[in-house]
Amino acid sequence: MLAVRCPACGSVDDKVVDSRQSEDGASIRRRRQCLACAQRFTTFERLEELPLVVRKRSGERMPFDPAKVIDGVRAASKYRPITDAQLDRLAVEVEESMRLEGGEVSSQQVGLAVLERLRELDHVAYLRFASVYKDFDDPADFERELVALTKTTEPKRR
Ligand SMILES: [Zn+2]
Repeated sequence: MLAVRCPACGSVDDKVVDSRQSEDGASIRRRRQCLACAQRFTTFERLEELPLVVRKRSGERMPFDPAKVIDGVRAASKYRPITDAQLDRLAVEVEESMRLEGGEVSSQQVGLAVLERLRELDHVAYLRFASVYKDFDDPADFERELVALTKTTEPKRR
């Protein structure tokens, strides 16, 4: 669904204010707001009909490829106890969460979505993936990431 017309004024310029997966998981319900007249309306989009494009830092656009996610995570999880089934599931979850973001996402968003899931799966793989994928602009970013990781792994004390 590329051009959505506002039911009130017919404008095709709108912004998505909320996206939710339907209960059967097969479609996405989006609340939209027309940029011309501020009318709010809802659209339903079938997941498999939605193109998912990844925008790289260079500006180049590529179709989302779950195999690339799997390759990247597999490289980061070398010698770690992560199964192929876990890799597959991670890629599916990342793809689903990216579809909820809209038809186009940045490679950084994909990387962060992978990290979110790796954090729960395996901390060593998470840190490896973070260091190569996250494109840290500043060494402090990596440190902040380590601190965040330490916080989540700290045993809970009562
Ligand atoms: Zn309108």
